[in-house]
Amino acid sequence: MLTIRNLSKTYPNGVEALKSVSLDIETGIFGLLGPNGAGKSTLMKTIATLQEPSHGQVSFDNKDILKNPNVVRSCLGYLPQEFGVYPKISAYELLNHIAILKGVLNDAARKEQVNALLQQTNLYDVRKKSVSTYSGGMKQRFGIAQALLGNPNLIIVDEPTAGLDPEERNRFHNLFSEIGENIIVILSTHIVDDVSQLCPNMAILVDGEVCVNGRPSSLIDKLNGNIWRKVVDKDQVEQYKAKFNVISTRFIVGETQLTINSDIQPELGFEPVQPDLEDVYFSTLSKKIKTN
Ligand code: ADP
Ligand code: MG
Repeated sequence: MLTIRNLSKTYPNGVEALKSVSLDIETGIFGLLGPNGAGKSTLMKTIATLQEPSHGQVSFDNKDILKNPNVVRSCLGYLPQEFGVYPKISAYELLNHIAILKGVLNDAARKEQVNALLQQTNLYDVRKKSVSTYSGGMKQRFGIAQALLGNPNLIIVDEPTAGLDPEERNRFHNLFSEIGENIIVILSTHIVDDVSQLCPNMAILVDGEVCVNGRPSSLIDKLNGNIWRKVVDKDQVEQYKAKFNVISTRFIVGETQLTINSDIQPELGFEPVQPDLEDVYFSTLSKKIKTN
């Protein structure tokens, strides 16, 4: 169990990236959903003990990891959002090297693990090529492979699906749904589908604050009966926005579809729809903008 209490971070330039964040994260895949600039990477780096917070506590299995970073470092798999520069050696060699650093010292066991991860991330055929020549999606898969080395029991992956095409994203979902059964995986993303397909628990982070926290299904249930949709003229969108709580507008082949959050039918022609996680996300974002 990972416990985060009143975690705040103000960068030297004055940006408050985290504002008293508290979360309890249990075994399974935890989805941290939020727009760019919400503070996701700041939170991930703090849990990975790569960066100190301004205030607050983080503990893993009741041990304070800010005071004892080794508690986490020895069992952590981390995929940063930005990987930086790769050395000009083959994927196999690089994984082998990282595995040694992570303490997988038995030669046969290490070889087996490296090969298995190359297979799982679909990089086996290109294992002899230098990672520096890989495409964005391949680098991302390599990043996932290195995060899984050494059988970590806490995995932090920061926007792992951002550069992946739909097929690669699907493969990633399958891989992680298996891994997430017995350990804690924290997955940050701005893609709602990642969370709806993978995460039994989630939080929405906006402007450094946790706005929503819980099981996706119960968050969706709370919106039952409150989500309405209508196709309107493009010119009318601004009027509707002024009058109603428009949570999203979508342009579909020349038409504009409005989604509104309201206890009652906003006006004639609006159809009630079964809410989904995207409605939860957009409702949260629009509420946050209005209170600012
Ligand atoms: P996210 O990962 O959700 O996009 P970040 O944690 O990267 O959010 O950033 C949160 C806020 O903190 C942003 O406003 C960002 O510009 C700012 N920020 C991030 N890193 C730094 C830094 N090293 N110095 C100053 N500001 C930063
Ligand atoms: Mg980020």
